[in-house]
Amino acid sequence: MTEVSVAKEDRAASDELVVLKSVNKHFGALHVLQDIDLTIDRGEVVVVIGPSGSGKSTLCRTINRLETIDSGTITIDGRPLPHEGRELARLRADVGMVFQSFNLFAHKTVLENVMLGQIKVRRADKKAAEEKARALLDRVGVGTQADKYPAQLSGGQQQRVAIARALAMNPKVMLFDEPTSALDPEMINEVLDVMRQLASEGMTMIVVTHEMGFARSAANRVVFMADGRIVEQAAPEQFFNNPRSDRAKDFLSKIL
Ligand code: ADP
Ligand code: MG
Repeated sequence: MTEVSVAKEDRAASDELVVLKSVNKHFGALHVLQDIDLTIDRGEVVVVIGPSGSGKSTLCRTINRLETIDSGTITIDGRPLPHEGRELARLRADVGMVFQSFNLFAHKTVLENVMLGQIKVRRADKKAAEEKARALLDRVGVGTQADKYPAQLSGGQQQRVAIARALAMNPKVMLFDEPTSALDPEMINEVLDVMRQLASEGMTMIVVTHEMGFARSAANRVVFMADGRIVEQAAPEQFFNNPRSDRAKDFLSKIL
């Protein structure tokens, strides 16, 4: 029993929330993640950038085990990723994920979308789940849309609902995989503003994005990936003003 409580204290004491060590992943002959070492501290906002096909989405998907890995280890808050069952469902709830396509349940109302996981995974009662859902919908600015269906909302509103839905699980870390890439330009900022707000409140975040303004203003660290590797990582100012690698220089010259 003492061993268990000591382990718990260690977890709480550590700043390291997400730790990947020597992670490798193949899709057939394609070595999509190559010896990835990455540590994300509690409260840190890490923006992941890199060319299309470099493995950014796969990296996100391995962190909440939508993809398995071939070798290496991934721990969340000191615990290795569980393989299946209820433990895995709980892990997924600890790691909130927001995708490019909003992935809301089309046949549930906005409110139900934000209640469902709380009831099924977190075992919240219906009343508590509804209260929390309404509060979160207010927080992301779509409180008045609660009784509508996703298709009745704009893309920016749907993405904010998706963020509220992930937050409803009290995640330890939020993963965003190109959350604004499918949005019309005028809706990008309303989503980025919610993300900036979350970042300023201390949420641990991993954000794959092409929004360099967001990276500069909200990230503590930029991770640059190419060909399945982390090529370079640095504070945003250093990365954008003085990229070290040729790959990063080349990438930035194309997008900036
Ligand atoms: P990024 O998000 O940086 O654009 P991805 O992680 O989506 O990159 O993809 C990295 C590489 O892995 C790409 O070459 C892609 O085609 C390939 N890939 C991604 N998912 C799969 C899959 N399920 N099966 C086979 N290949 C995949
Ligand atoms: Mg991707």
